[in-house]
Amino acid sequence: MTSLRSLSLSSSLDFPNNSAIFGSTLKLGENELTILRLSTNSSKINPVLRLKASRISLELTKEAGNIKENMSEDTLNGRDPFCTMKQRFLTFKKEKYLGNIEHYQNLAETQSPKFTVIACADSRVCPSNILGFQPGEAFTVRNVANLVPPFETGPSETKAALEFSVNALEVENILVVGHSRCGGIRALMSMEDVEEEDSRSFIKSWVIFGKNARVSTKSVASNLHLDQQCRHCEKESINHSLMNLLTYPWIKERVAKGTLSLHGGYYNFVDGTFEKWTLDYNHNVEDGHTCSVKSREFWS
Ligand SMILES: [Zn+2]
Repeated sequence: MTSLRSLSLSSSLDFPNNSAIFGSTLKLGENELTILRLSTNSSKINPVLRLKASRISLELTKEAGNIKENMSEDTLNGRDPFCTMKQRFLTFKKEKYLGNIEHYQNLAETQSPKFTVIACADSRVCPSNILGFQPGEAFTVRNVANLVPPFETGPSETKAALEFSVNALEVENILVVGHSRCGGIRALMSMEDVEEEDSRSFIKSWVIFGKNARVSTKSVASNLHLDQQCRHCEKESINHSLMNLLTYPWIKERVAKGTLSLHGGYYNFVDGTFEKWTLDYNHNVEDGHTCSVKSREFWS
């Protein structure tokens, strides 16, 4: 096994006043890793920090070389996924973290993302990867089938993420991202009867939150093959999730005031396209509100 040499930042860097680095060492099996935390009360980055950061960058390059030398047979044969992960992290630290140290130090103090993103847990649809969100840009929650439950139902991690990002972070946009060949939507469309479904399945009891999308899909596409019904429901469920967002009083209030916008997105990984649209909310004193779609774009 590889022993990763600890990087002793505190002994080699000059930091601004009122700043300190704290390190703690964790031992995981035979691997040793030093966890570093930089605490600073100053938003100004000492120029010395930049210089020393570049030195650390060189150290990391040497580190990557040492890792390769110490690779086990399994690692060299590509059977150790954590070796790849480790190298990716060190590359990220060298090229992005240390290359933008001031930005990352500011992010360590606070975050002010413009977006809340709700995407599917599917491994193929990582929003940071396909839409290029960088650290600090999108407060993200991922669940099976990218569903937003109505406000009235019980607590969920999606609701907690919405409450925090909307009320505390005051994001300006919520983007619900659906995708092609969604297993969660297929589970929803494959149910015999959503009203009498066995609730012992966590998947089924979760995707039932999309039952209105299933009903509207069945009403217009029941004669089509299940695959085509699923394609239709994948987009339909996004719109139902957008409407469900409006059942949260603090979301509806912000949308009505124009400080929060709701968007849908559909990533088709079969043909590599992305469709984006925005909910057009029209408040009407007599009739409540109406919604339509605006700013629809197709990226290909
Ligand atoms: Zn999915």
